[in-house]
Amino acid sequence: MGAIGVVAVTAAGRAVGERLRAVWPDEVEVVTADRPAEALQRAFRDSDAVVAFVAVGATVRVLAPLIGDKTTDPPVVCVDEALRYAVPVLGGHYGANTLAHRLSKTLGCTAVVTTASDSVAATPLDSYGADLGCSVADPAPLARVGARLLSGEPVRLEGTREWPLPPLPPNAAPEVTEPGAAVIRVDDRTDTVVTASADTLVYRPPSLVVGVGAARGVSAAEVTELIEAALTDAALAGASVRCVATVDLKADESGIVEAARQRGWRLRAFPAADLAAIDVPHPSELVRSEVGTPSVAEAAALHAAALDGRSAELVVAKRKSPNATVAVARLRPRGRLCVVGLGPGARDLTAPRALAQLRRASVVVGLDQYIDQIRDLLAPGTQVVASGLGQEEERARTAVEQARAGAAVALIGSGDAGVYAMASPALDAAGTDIDVVGVPGITAAVAAAHLLGAPLGHDHAYISLSDLHTPWEAIERRVRAAAEGDFTVCFYNPRSRNRDWQFPRALELLAAHRPPETPVGHVRNAARDGERVTVTTLADMLDGGAAEVDMYTVVVVGSTASRIVAGRFVTPRGYRWKE
Ligand code: SAH
Repeated sequence: MGAIGVVAVTAAGRAVGERLRAVWPDEVEVVTADRPAEALQRAFRDSDAVVAFVAVGATVRVLAPLIGDKTTDPPVVCVDEALRYAVPVLGGHYGANTLAHRLSKTLGCTAVVTTASDSVAATPLDSYGADLGCSVADPAPLARVGARLLSGEPVRLEGTREWPLPPLPPNAAPEVTEPGAAVIRVDDRTDTVVTASADTLVYRPPSLVVGVGAARGVSAAEVTELIEAALTDAALAGASVRCVATVDLKADESGIVEAARQRGWRLRAFPAADLAAIDVPHPSELVRSEVGTPSVAEAAALHAAALDGRSAELVVAKRKSPNATVAVARLRPRGRLCVVGLGPGARDLTAPRALAQLRRASVVVGLDQYIDQIRDLLAPGTQVVASGLGQEEERARTAVEQARAGAAVALIGSGDAGVYAMASPALDAAGTDIDVVGVPGITAAVAAAHLLGAPLGHDHAYISLSDLHTPWEAIERRVRAAAEGDFTVCFYNPRSRNRDWQFPRALELLAAHRPPETPVGHVRNAARDGERVTVTTLADMLDGGAAEVDMYTVVVVGSTASRIVAGRFVTPRGYRWKE
């Protein structure tokens, strides 16, 4: 019987079984029988792996009496007939997870992996760091290191901290010292002392820039030879070269263009004035008189490496051949900070991009209640820095410091992380030495608006009533301005136990400019457990309704144009639709 027994007991299942056999012809045998149980038992007995188009429950009941040892039993994956999910049921680490991932690629279903070290699925080793430009030096150890990582064996990490890489499971760590442990190393050097382990997986980071200068008419062979000699003598990996850099004047020098093209390296050229500003060890007045900068190779290498606020050092000083010069610089990558808004609460109101960024981060920083909201999503090995309410600045600083040290950090917040939240203190503390990206989140006012109707159809203002960081006079001035400007107003942080007079006061200021029947909507815990939606009027709010409002509530007060239509709070667009 084939290596993979595909158990199909319905016509639909058989059809998919045949599809799999067509894609994996040497592996798949479709197993059918009158009774599902019989087919399952046969496949389990005779195959090296089982794919069952049978419910998980039925599969478990049938196979339970046959289950022996996970190292010798065939792995079992169940797939539902709608082809939505491939669920590794038995032998996750012994082939079922891998099989589920193969099925997900072939059938378009989702692999539902439940083993603890499933992060390898999120961060497959063959593409580890690929988004940063890292490449596998030699694919030979990939499978074995992957298997050892997956099975929970200790794996030593070397050089991974310098780059903002995604997390690996906790059994992989820089501190691992076991002799014979597998090694994952990020390294641009070819002479790093190889440890006893044969299972060393090396990634080449894009850390080097080759600077090149040349006389008119230089041959590609001469340039190539000079670059190769420079790299080889310094034991630097060509796969780590991110680009070749030169001066504007030489951007179309065919020997340089061709040498870069042959190795697949990008060629970048910079104005002489930019290069002249770079401090180099071997300036030349002769070169300055010819091209307007005292250094081409060294200056271009350093300049290109240090772009975007990175720090760089010269690792190969200027070398010459009759018609060319080269130098090599190494850059220190920037860590990255991703500011991620989780949305109001419900998981399906969080952007897929936010979820991807959470899994991409090796450090996640946030308020403990938000961390709890997404903890299950984090890849194993992710470092979590949770803190309590009120430590905003400290949280922001921690996130920035971690990014500065080179990590991929996600700073999380509810709603949108930039709305009355962590993005501003974080960016206040961040310099040019880190990358910053953001993922927008659905902010409370927007989440609430959809529950209330369409209150934000025309101009509106967000006002936080918290006077923790803002003097009350400033808040009141803005409420007044919003009142006079006839804005619909969304109040954040409206009222707490110790701050109870501000909200009624703000309502009074609005009431001076809009009628008592102005619609007011307030939503407590929008898109969260205990959601409560209230549509009422300004008069009612002033007459005791304000007491229902607390810190879990966002309040929307209509403009003079807002009205209630069929129970819904609507602010007209304000245009004339018809003449
Ligand atoms: N960054 C958040 C706002 C933080 S300020 C966002 O974009 O939504 C905290 C205030 O936001 C709360 O006092 C409350 O007024 C409002 N808020 C946040 N989440 C809410 C939710 N799910 N339901 C109702 N109000 C919410």
